Amino acid sequence: MLYTAFVREHRELLQHTVEKKGITLSIADLLEQDELRRRLLKDVEGLRHERNRLSEQIGELIKQRKHDEAEQVKRQVREANEVLGGLEIGLAEAEKAFRELMLLVPNPVSPDTPDGKSDADNVEIRRVGEPPTFDFMPLNHVEIGERLGILDLQRGVKIAGTRNYVLKGTGYHLHRAVQQLAMDVLERRGFTPLEVPMMVRGEALLNTGFFPTGEDQVFAVAEEDKYLIGTSEVSLVSYFGNEIIELNEPIRLAAVTSCFRREIGSAGRDVHGLYRVHQFAKVEQVVLCENDPSLSEQLLQEMTRNAEDILQLLELPYRVVAVCIGDMSQKTHKQYDIETWMPSRQSYGETHSSSNLLDFQARRANIHYRDEDGRMQYCHTLNNTAIATPRILIPLLENHQREDGTVYVPKALRPYLNRAEEIRPL
Ligand code: AMP
Repeated sequence: MLYTAFVREHRELLQHTVEKKGITLSIADLLEQDELRRRLLKDVEGLRHERNRLSEQIGELIKQRKHDEAEQVKRQVREANEVLGGLEIGLAEAEKAFRELMLLVPNPVSPDTPDGKSDADNVEIRRVGEPPTFDFMPLNHVEIGERLGILDLQRGVKIAGTRNYVLKGTGYHLHRAVQQLAMDVLERRGFTPLEVPMMVRGEALLNTGFFPTGEDQVFAVAEEDKYLIGTSEVSLVSYFGNEIIELNEPIRLAAVTSCFRREIGSAGRDVHGLYRVHQFAKVEQVVLCENDPSLSEQLLQEMTRNAEDILQLLELPYRVVAVCIGDMSQKTHKQYDIETWMPSRQSYGETHSSSNLLDFQARRANIHYRDEDGRMQYCHTLNNTAIATPRILIPLLENHQREDGTVYVPKALRPYLNRAEEIRPL
């Protein structure tokens, strides 16, 4: 959350960001609510002071045996308490309404963020690798997976409804192999691996900026105040909630978890296959660093490179795009997406998302560190996908398919797949 003072000083920038990011909020109404709550607070404090002064008088008057006057002051205290009761209720309501509005205030975006409304306006930064050309009729990932006997969509849907799947045999091993490869790359680069909760308190989602704006995307656990995470960023950032941390150097964390998403608003989009499913696995990078925009920018580049290196190990063609303001969430300051070539779509499809949030999450989650001068500061937080599967199996199976029905296994994956050089039908 941003300071009230910051909101007041940047009302135009923030109203502009609200509109571009498609959030329903009036900064003017928020500031009016702030005025109201301050006025009420002043009235409550003034009246409390007056009541305490009167209460002290009563003792004095009794000591001086001025009982009639003491009775009169007692009446005044009772009246003050009645008025105060009403004012305190009004203040609590005003504070709540103000807090609810503050939770909607977006993070302003970086100056180099492209303008635009949707992913169609994202700007390509670089392309790496060449999309393959096939001298046979290539299949899509569902056809390849079913032919190899490693993917069973029908039974996934039978068990759990649409947007579900079953991976079996080599499909299961491939799914696990890409996760372990990504974790190994991150660990070698100084990331600490963590096993974290996948079912979390609402507070963890609120503090990391997924509530209230993304609440409809999250599965709630019936009869518990708990929710299934859509990304381990929630658990990794909340790990440090309400703490003062040591930040002599950036903290690099990685986790592999299942992720659950309702995909509300995607009705009818990508229903077939592995692109948009309700449950997937993701290896996530999260970094916390000092409140220094040039340092967090450098780390954003580093985390983006980590993901690119993993794609290069998988020998997949991809491109990096700068995400435009209209395609960004409330919490994001700067974002790159990586899109990997998917032959069946004849286009690049999003497989990674790399974001710098500055101190937006740290303010909500109350994560501080002490700077060189001993002053308390909120840290910066960043996150990026390292690998998300089964979506990555789409380019993996489609780009590496061969005419004889086998699929080439990239060299870096072979140690995780019993040294197999190709996947053959079962
Ligand atoms: P996000 O956390 O929304 O930036 O997503 C990070 C990555 O997770 C995406 O780039 C996808 O690779 C993957 N992903 C997100 N949502 C889904 C989904 N519903 N089904 C499959 N993969 C997903």
